[in-house]
Amino acid sequence: MTLFWLGLITLVCYTVSLYLWPFKRHGRCKGTGRNRGSTKRRFGDCAGCGGTGRVPRIGAKFIHQSMLRIAADRRKARERRGKQKGQL
Ligand SMILES: [Zn+2]
Repeated sequence: MTLFWLGLITLVCYTVSLYLWPFKRHGRCKGTGRNRGSTKRRFGDCAGCGGTGRVPRIGAKFIHQSMLRIAADRRKARERRGKQKGQL
């Protein structure tokens, strides 16, 4: 039972951290976004992260999509309530 709670707490902490920090440093370029072997004359963007040096963490996209959907639903509900009030 203790293991269950520990797992649940870990999951919640991970979800919150995903929401706050959806990106992590790209390992292959060490967060620089530069291709290894780049020189002064020729800079190559890292292929893995597209030159940003950051990559999305697993699950971060899903969390943010869920949050956006919830926010949109709440806004819609508020608009609906506002319209009803206007009709009365
Ligand atoms: Zn990279």
